[in-house]
Amino acid sequence: MKSGCVDRADLPRQWDELEKSIVACRRCPRLVAWREQVARERRRAYRDISYWGKPVPGFGDRHGPVLVVGLAPGAHGANRTGRMFTGDGSGEFLYKALYQAGYANQPDSSHLDDGLILNQMFITAVCRCAPPRNKPKSEEISNCLPFMAEEIRLIGEIKVIVALGKIAFDGSLMLLRQQGHNIGRHSFGHARVFKLGEDLPWMVASYHPSRQNTQTGRLTKDMFAEIWELVKQFLC
Ligand code: SF4
Repeated sequence: MKSGCVDRADLPRQWDELEKSIVACRRCPRLVAWREQVARERRRAYRDISYWGKPVPGFGDRHGPVLVVGLAPGAHGANRTGRMFTGDGSGEFLYKALYQAGYANQPDSSHLDDGLILNQMFITAVCRCAPPRNKPKSEEISNCLPFMAEEIRLIGEIKVIVALGKIAFDGSLMLLRQQGHNIGRHSFGHARVFKLGEDLPWMVASYHPSRQNTQTGRLTKDMFAEIWELVKQFLC
């Protein structure tokens, strides 16, 4: 998947503008109210910490070629820290796996200035605001997908999309269809790999590394490690 109409010399400014427009977005009233309520009320353990309380931009290597797509910021994770999968159990599980697979320089992700750097991988989400019960409405995802579209355009060539969970999977396919790509019907399942079409990236589906999945054994460390090994075969 290759981007068109991108002035590569102007990329830093375009990334800067995109991040500003994401962080300033108030398009979904329900999510704006929720993210700000959570940031105001805070969890007891974080009551002395200022929450981010805004939409969360994508994070990682702006050259791709791997695009990891999550669901939405965790209320007390990315909505608190301002960075994708940072500061909660999902992030702990994810970044440990990415470190072990060689995509991250450290296994921990606790706050914006913790030194975390991703290699060959950019992490985004189909919804940038923390939703109540981790469930964005379909119209909220539709409102938000243009931000992911713009990230994809700026990244340039993407070889693999890794969808973390069914909502991220469906949202990613919806975006590609909206862009005019003829994507067949694909059903979500852990470690399923899909060829989306000529000149399109491969898609790897994974269960989401939520506490609900990792603490119940639905997603184990070995199952998750398999995903990142699968990805490597498309990077040669
Ligand atoms: S979910 Fe996306 S579109 Fe909706 S308010 Fe947040 S950033 Fe804006």
